[in-house]
Amino acid sequence: MTNPAPDSIPALLFGDLWQYAPAPEKPDFVKFEKRYGHFINGKFVEGENYFASINPATEETLLEVATADEKMVDQAVQAARQAYEKVWRKLSGTERGKYLYRIGRLIQENAMELAILESMDNGKPIKETRDIDVPLCAAHFLYYAGWADKLSYAFPGANPSPIGVAGQIIPWNFPLLMLAWKLAPALAAGNTVVLKPAETTPLTAMKIAEILQKAELPAGVVNIINGAGASGAALVRHPDVNKIAFTGSTEVGKIIQRNIAGTPKRLTLELGGKGANIIFEDAALDQAVEGIVNGIFFNQGQVCCAGSRLLVQESVAEQVVAKLKVRMASLRVGDPLDKNTDVGAINSRQQMEKIGGLVAQGEREGAHLWQCDCQLPAHGFFFRPSIFTEVAMSHTIAQEEIFGPVLSILTFRTPAEAVEKANNTQYGLSAGIWSDKGSKLFKVAGALRAGVVWGNTYNKFDPASPFGGYKESGFGREGGLQGLYPYLKL
Ligand code: NAD
Repeated sequence: MTNPAPDSIPALLFGDLWQYAPAPEKPDFVKFEKRYGHFINGKFVEGENYFASINPATEETLLEVATADEKMVDQAVQAARQAYEKVWRKLSGTERGKYLYRIGRLIQENAMELAILESMDNGKPIKETRDIDVPLCAAHFLYYAGWADKLSYAFPGANPSPIGVAGQIIPWNFPLLMLAWKLAPALAAGNTVVLKPAETTPLTAMKIAEILQKAELPAGVVNIINGAGASGAALVRHPDVNKIAFTGSTEVGKIIQRNIAGTPKRLTLELGGKGANIIFEDAALDQAVEGIVNGIFFNQGQVCCAGSRLLVQESVAEQVVAKLKVRMASLRVGDPLDKNTDVGAINSRQQMEKIGGLVAQGEREGAHLWQCDCQLPAHGFFFRPSIFTEVAMSHTIAQEEIFGPVLSILTFRTPAEAVEKANNTQYGLSAGIWSDKGSKLFKVAGALRAGVVWGNTYNKFDPASPFGGYKESGFGREGGLQGLYPYLKL
């Protein structure tokens, strides 16, 4: 018998021979309202101008949410102000910590329901929401609960005090996790909050509001308003907000920065990225290939810190690309609720079209496209995992954030060239380095202008570890002790 040609190996291993049986998580037991207004002063309130939030895997309407206008935003800010002055700022750190522990535990108790709802609303695979989004969300509350009564030890001699009412605006790619990154440090530091989830993913924020009620968090400490950009802009403009914390696109981050210029409002911005994942020839290549896959196909590549630019040393480039194609052939793309799914749905039609447009531009500019030939579901917003070779630094796909399952592959010869190429971007959020040599890893990490650098791994998150960017990726840090600074007067 002759050996199979390398190209047919994926087909032999993962094609007709070994098909995974469907293993869908049953959404029967999850409960949610078909219509949500806003959550203000501890209560769900009716709103106006309802719009649909759809399940991106089926294109069916999941629920409707209201749009907060100036008046509604004002009600939410007033509730947060009252709660701040009358209750929350007067509570001891120990008491605030107890609430945060309670919220963290309730998230854990409701973990499966939250994971299913997050998959339905966002499109991300259940194995990610179950094993990453929801546990990390709970971990953030539990971690910051631990700081609430230790602020004077954390900042010795500084007599830390809260700053007041925080307006927080989050994106759709990690709805629960971004909510936890925002709420947990703000509350631990003694502030009250008005939070606006993204318009395409409001559902789990509304479920968290139910959890806040169950935790008996005092009314008004957390208020959640629904709506799109105009509602966010009204929150940014409100004169009684002391701080804006924004996670989202660089474009909107710049608008917000302009809008609050000249006001005493504090600002932190967590924006876009174009992370370089650097593979040296001395790296464990099979391990690195797993890291490449995790770096760009986790959450369908809709990750601000995605390793969307692969920089691979020329001597091993061919080998790495060949291994990557074999590995990609085994990715299962489809129903987010199926426990076997690796790559779920893109969050919206608009995002899918944006990805498609940039991929077409990559081809027009001369890069070479290779895509998985997996079968995509008939409905829903699905995009084939894709890689581009023959990419030049000047190509749009090497510069712009695609925010989808699309990898641009470039090569380098020396560590200095790798660093130069990695830093040659308007962004500075994340990077990965793969090498067998610890000394090389530390030296290169020190030369990279990126807020987070992973060594021989990628996309690892921990509440104790600060996260944030340089340059057009924003400023301020979330997570760790550093994540408390923006919410404290020191
Ligand atoms: P987006 O900027 O379009 O929207 C983010 C949020 O801002 C949404 O809630 C939206 O309603 C609101 N918004 C829109 N216009 C506004 C305005 N003028 N004023 C106030 N609020 C406004 O971003 P997106 O498409 O939802 O998210 C994707 C982007 O988020 C990507 O660029 C990604 O890199 C970035 N992101 C960054 C991080 C990080 O930590 N650096 C994390 C996740 C996502």
